[in-house]
Amino acid sequence: MRKNMVAGNWKMNTTLPEAQALISEIVHMVQDETTGSEVEVVVCPPFPFLLPVGKLLPEGGAFHLGAQNCHQKASGAFTGEVSAAMLQSVGCEYVILGHSERRQYFREDDELLSQKLKAALAAGLKPIFCVGETLETREQGDTFKHLEKQLQDGLFHLSNEEFDKVTVAYEPIWAIGTGKTATSEQAQEVHAFIREQLARAYDAKAAMATSILYGGSCNAQNARELFSQPDVDGGLIGGAALKSRDFTDIIKSF
Ligand code: PEP
Repeated sequence: MRKNMVAGNWKMNTTLPEAQALISEIVHMVQDETTGSEVEVVVCPPFPFLLPVGKLLPEGGAFHLGAQNCHQKASGAFTGEVSAAMLQSVGCEYVILGHSERRQYFREDDELLSQKLKAALAAGLKPIFCVGETLETREQGDTFKHLEKQLQDGLFHLSNEEFDKVTVAYEPIWAIGTGKTATSEQAQEVHAFIREQLARAYDAKAAMATSILYGGSCNAQNARELFSQPDVDGGLIGGAALKSRDFTDIIKSF
């Protein structure tokens, strides 16, 4: 179901005490300052902190736990890896897949990501599937072609029932961690294009029911303008998710 969502990707940051302090502050601020239900808040700490952070989330409210990655196999001899079922068993509801840092530094391609999506869904997790173009691709005028391919090869193998569980995140790589945000017009243009592709691959109803998040230097100052666009349903937040004041202000930006 399409909903307003803010997801915080903590990446490889925080120690356990820092993670616990951060989530406690965020929970208190959100509880004190918002009326609650119209935004889904997903927090994605590093793997070792999922359980302790999850324990600090109030049950049945706006908060949900997510992971930053999972392995494509259900179990087995894959030293150092974490399966989707493990994540589900420690309380995760969501998993980020296809983040540009995974694509770039860990060579995750659309074929691998399509397997990860299947594994996540089979374990009952809801994927947040990231797509986005480099600055070079944008300057060459190939943004739409690039996104179409990422969606086609990574996502569109899913059945209608599987696709129903997916949130899409548009994250222009040139805007991630750079302080350079897409303008609200640029974000809207791409989000509308993505929704059009979803309608083509599935149907208009499914496309309208899918949340599409914007990610890339989204902060407390620009979130309101970005989230006011008709096809922008919220944000996937990196740097600003590590600051309780900023993250709470972003949540309050709808
Ligand atoms: C991200 O990595 O998903 C992200 C959007 O990072 P930042 O907000 O720091 O640009």
